[in-house]
Amino acid sequence: MSLDFTLAKYREIVDAIAGSEYKVLTIKDYILSSRLPEKYIIIRHDVDLDPHYQVRFAELEHQSGIHTSYYFRYVEKIFKKDVIDKVCSLGHEIGYHYEVFTKARGDEKAAMEMFRDEIAVFKKHWDTVTVCPHGGSFVDHTDGYDLKGIIRLIPKMLSKKSVFSKWVNFDIWEKYRFDEFGIIGDSYKSFDFSNILYLSDTGRSWDIRFKRLDKVNSNVNPHFPVRKSDEIIEIIRSGKVNKIYLLVHFEQWKDNFTDWLSWYAAQIIRRTGKKILFGMKKV
Ligand SMILES: [Zn+2]
Repeated sequence: MSLDFTLAKYREIVDAIAGSEYKVLTIKDYILSSRLPEKYIIIRHDVDLDPHYQVRFAELEHQSGIHTSYYFRYVEKIFKKDVIDKVCSLGHEIGYHYEVFTKARGDEKAAMEMFRDEIAVFKKHWDTVTVCPHGGSFVDHTDGYDLKGIIRLIPKMLSKKSVFSKWVNFDIWEKYRFDEFGIIGDSYKSFDFSNILYLSDTGRSWDIRFKRLDKVNSNVNPHFPVRKSDEIIEIIRSGKVNKIYLLVHFEQWKDNFTDWLSWYAAQIIRRTGKKILFGMKKV
């Protein structure tokens, strides 16, 4: 049995897709398509932590003829133009991963001004037309993804200081229209998930029980309680589900055992922290 959430395992998923009848769609393809294929897989990548890490995966997909959607945050350590240019040159869609409500600490006017400025930068360089909300924002510039970040968060958690953002970035679409910003849609808001199998690796697990914000209303998911990437490969090979939406954060996928183990430990601690803070039933 091979380890899950490794570069090798992602290659297996890509190979299964490349050898299947599924058509791979970007978020933009889906929104613009007037007639969707019978079998399709939408693949979205949120770039939350390390832009450089995306390139190998973007190349791997490109070599297999698969083109997907990459959403980059507009923060200093993520917004690296040369890297985004590279991903774009491989034929992938470049989207804007917005977190303006968190950045503006809930101030709507400031948030929308920021959104307008930031999307303009993406549009100028990569003709960006779709956006995606960043769900895992932490306030006070504190990250809690890797072990180092989590260790820094512990005193704040213990003193009950607010750690997770309480603003849901996605809420802006209750009031504003996409065309006001020159975009065509959002990676959640523009989708009807009812007949789509939605699979997300948030929290380094496909298991829906670990998700806080990253959930959709799907009638398909209850029939396919996926936990391992091998189960996804099996679904793709068998073709038993027509419509699949995969959300993959490459930071979760490691290519050596030391990194893999350290990341896994961090995610277990992170899940436990979320459980305490939000009263989730299981970790
Ligand atoms: Zn994100």
